[in-house]
Amino acid sequence: MSEFNIKNAKTSWDMKDYYTSVADPQIAEDVNKISSLVDSFISKYTGKISGLADDKFVEFFADENEYGTIVSKIQIFMLYTSSLDTQNQDILKKQGELSHKFTEIFNGLTFVGQEFKARGYDDLIRLSELPELSAWKNYFYQTAQSIKYVLDEKTEKALMFKAPSGGKSAFSSLYEELTGSFEFKVHDFETEEDKMVTDSEVRALRQSTDERVRKNAYESIREVFEDEKTQIVLGNCYSNILKDCTSELNIRGYDHVMSRRNKSEELSDDVVDTLLSEVEKSYPMYQKYLKIKAKLMGKDKLNVWDVMAPLDKVEKEYTFEDGLKLFLDTIKKFDVEFYDFSVNMFENARVDVFPGKGKRGGAFACYDKGFESYVLLNWTNKLGDVSTLAHELGHATHGHLSQAQEAEVYSTGMCLAETASVFNEMILSETLMSQMSDDEKLSYLDENLGSTFATIHRQIQYILFERRCHKAIHSGEGLGYEDFNKAWGEEVNKMSGDAIVRVEGDKTSTWSSIPHIFRSPFYCYAYSFGNILTFALYNKYKEEGESFIPKYKEFLKSGGSLPPAELVKKTIGMDISKPEYFQSGLSVIEGMLDDFEALAALK
Ligand SMILES: [Zn+2]
Repeated sequence: MSEFNIKNAKTSWDMKDYYTSVADPQIAEDVNKISSLVDSFISKYTGKISGLADDKFVEFFADENEYGTIVSKIQIFMLYTSSLDTQNQDILKKQGELSHKFTEIFNGLTFVGQEFKARGYDDLIRLSELPELSAWKNYFYQTAQSIKYVLDEKTEKALMFKAPSGGKSAFSSLYEELTGSFEFKVHDFETEEDKMVTDSEVRALRQSTDERVRKNAYESIREVFEDEKTQIVLGNCYSNILKDCTSELNIRGYDHVMSRRNKSEELSDDVVDTLLSEVEKSYPMYQKYLKIKAKLMGKDKLNVWDVMAPLDKVEKEYTFEDGLKLFLDTIKKFDVEFYDFSVNMFENARVDVFPGKGKRGGAFACYDKGFESYVLLNWTNKLGDVSTLAHELGHATHGHLSQAQEAEVYSTGMCLAETASVFNEMILSETLMSQMSDDEKLSYLDENLGSTFATIHRQIQYILFERRCHKAIHSGEGLGYEDFNKAWGEEVNKMSGDAIVRVEGDKTSTWSSIPHIFRSPFYCYAYSFGNILTFALYNKYKEEGESFIPKYKEFLKSGGSLPPAELVKKTIGMDISKPEYFQSGLSVIEGMLDDFEALAALK
């Protein structure tokens, strides 16, 4: 373990391993190098991949990665510099130039996909089973899975050309353009004047401490989305998207409405069905939470606009040094290797901590095969900043440990991507809670429970609505906005039961304000799956103590080298096809809810 003085933490990125600036002549040299490497790749492999000998694949991947690594280096550098200076015209211009150049260079590489397809499903599966290619097992396996549903070249081309003007992508861009133009009229209770605000502004008002503001925001959103003409257009968009998904399903031969999404998440239909039914069974936990919260707010029942209300609180401030110390103390107790890596991030200036003029908002972690993780934060002395630090350093650690994998299987799917980040937040939350007064704990738990239910339960409620609509259209029913409103209302009521006051005349049109269901059908369950997995891992850690840690590291080191079910089974020993696995994850919420109830009883 290295000795680390918090005062020595470097808080601005050092990008010396990349380039000096966007004007660095090395960038142009590297682009030329990529271009000539791609040219020789094309002449070496065109017409050869479909018949490439088994023992030539290692060389093939090495050739691919030789230019791929330089591309990553340039792209990562552009992401970092533009994140620190979003308005810089030179950077924006350079980005445009590079993207044009790369499209030109990579145009010649489309033959690779076609030639892999030409090898056929059975041969790709055979390759996935060869011991000498075991490092690429999942790459061959997933390629085999995806080509199964690829049609002949002519049909694929026709579909591709038709897509922008018809079908799913056309209707979701109509949806986006229309809803993007919406403005919302809200009342300012200080000046007593009305004003127009954007979508994200009106949504933020739902978290106001003032009930008048929250109710006004709720009504303003309804007024816009429940306008008759808007409903007709949005309903039409959605039903056309559903019809397009149904045609795709039929043309490509998927088993059922969710199969396409499940394949891309590398999950079996059965596992996803179990996820949906286990979460649905646990809806009463959500209702219990709402009832306790109602009491704390001095109400018999919550109104719809109270769900996201914060409990009264005086928030503690955390300077960066305090926050970093809290996190490092926590992670040191958990595991030395995790601690050392986190310290290393700060010793080597790979975390950019404070807000700055032109710097991108929010937070992110970035990593890629062959490149160490970097983290961007915007520290403002809030409790949430400490959790975000833990969250992003979790991502960074995952990215670091997965370096053991080959580039082709380095990244995980969406379902596993939030594991280390949420796990770090869980162990940090133990430390935080141990230092809080009962009142602070109560509002901290309220916020945590609120966001957990939003991530696990609300996402599944979306999916159950989607599945119902997709199935209906698939079986030949015609649906319009009134049917969607009805289905949405029923699914929402199942989740909140009798815990929320029903609003007279509410048309339950909220589905029409959720972009995900238009843009990426069934995508939302990945959030729920990921959070439950992390909770189940956390339970396992609580049960097994230190002996859990090497297994957890093995899991993170595996990157995307196996589909989730096999990966979890092999490294952690959990069977995600069993309902008990999901129940174990969900029981963590029950524990939080018990604490919340006990603290609420003291009030
Ligand atoms: Zn994250």
